[in-house]
Amino acid sequence: MATDRPPLALVETSLREPRFRVLPPLTLYVHLPWCVKKCPYCDFNSHESRGDLPEEAYVDALIADLETSVPAVWGRKVITMFIGGGTPSLFSPKAIDRMLSEIRSRVFVAPDAEITMEANPGTFERAKFDGYFAAGVNRLSLGVQSFDPRFLRALGRIHDGDEARRAAEAAMMIFGNVNLDLMYALPGQTMDDLRADLAVALSFAVPHVSYYHLTLEPNTLFHRHPPPLPDDDTAADMGDAVEKTLTSAGYYHYETSAYARLPHESRHNLNYWRFGDYLGIGAGAHSKLSFADAILRQMRWRNPRDYLERAPQGAPVQEELQVTRDDVGFEFMLNALRLAEGVPTSIFAERTGFPLSIVARQIEVATRKGLLEPDPAVLKPTELGRRFLNDLQQLFLPPVKPGSKREVAPLVRIEATGVER
Ligand code: SF4
Repeated sequence: MATDRPPLALVETSLREPRFRVLPPLTLYVHLPWCVKKCPYCDFNSHESRGDLPEEAYVDALIADLETSVPAVWGRKVITMFIGGGTPSLFSPKAIDRMLSEIRSRVFVAPDAEITMEANPGTFERAKFDGYFAAGVNRLSLGVQSFDPRFLRALGRIHDGDEARRAAEAAMMIFGNVNLDLMYALPGQTMDDLRADLAVALSFAVPHVSYYHLTLEPNTLFHRHPPPLPDDDTAADMGDAVEKTLTSAGYYHYETSAYARLPHESRHNLNYWRFGDYLGIGAGAHSKLSFADAILRQMRWRNPRDYLERAPQGAPVQEELQVTRDDVGFEFMLNALRLAEGVPTSIFAERTGFPLSIVARQIEVATRKGLLEPDPAVLKPTELGRRFLNDLQQLFLPPVKPGSKREVAPLVRIEATGVER
């Protein structure tokens, strides 16, 4: 399709390394990896807790990890924090309080920082929620998934519908700033079931909802033994119903799976999607950190046992790689094009350290195909581009080198660490 986007100057740059004049905004992600029970659809780095949780030792390891990492972020302000898992609400308010105080004494956390914690209705106690709030958590992300006990059972969740309702009510009373994580296209779910779930979710008037299509991820029980799921057409209709219902109720669909009553978008997640920096501490946590002339990705030791042993020894990182010029365009677009509003074009150079001309050819192809808006001031998917987001993102994949297979680096694939799901 022809467009009137003016051709971008195909100025080839000889830069092999990025050049940053100002580093991107920085957030902090903390991973607490234990759950009561592993859900059959879950491919996150979460582990069933057997026996007592080693919360003291784990908080010590997190602080040792942070101390090792501080030189890499020295002098930078942390604009948001996200405590994810696993099920962070398995940790006591006392442990969360100590963890936040220790973090604050080592890095500068902005006084108005959004501090989100994930909680599971199955571990809900009102006194605990009060304690997290007193410790400084100011936003709660509640992993509800559904309010219908039939689907909660099918998903192997440890909570029932009443617990989910009570937890949502208490979260709104205590925090006010609340996200509900929900899923659709569940085993045996009909359109009427979905509408019923949506109606319950709306009744709490939470400022943020994350609604995910249940997918069968490799290395999960559901992948090995798939449950009966709604067919593709029904699932697509369900996705449309979610969007229509939530937008009619005043939520803005600002990212593929995220809906917010403005101005309550997740500031932490916006920083991922706008290719900001993040330091991730905790078992299996991922980081992306920019320096004057490099972008590094890191992954901490994935297994909690290894992490507990290595982090106090000053060796929390299991894998590290440098983002190359060939990869950075794809990595940027993988995130930025999820946003309905896209991003200002100028952000590309600010956040990658390379000029936009390194992806000029791909932008022209995407615009010609009608997947990207023909507006030189923004990088924004068209409606077609949002519908075929994978196709749009793949246009930015780096060229395959002779003799190698196309593969997205593992540290990129797990970008979702810390993003509500
Ligand atoms: S889905 Fe959430 S509660 Fe279930 S195992 Fe995964 S991290 Fe734990």
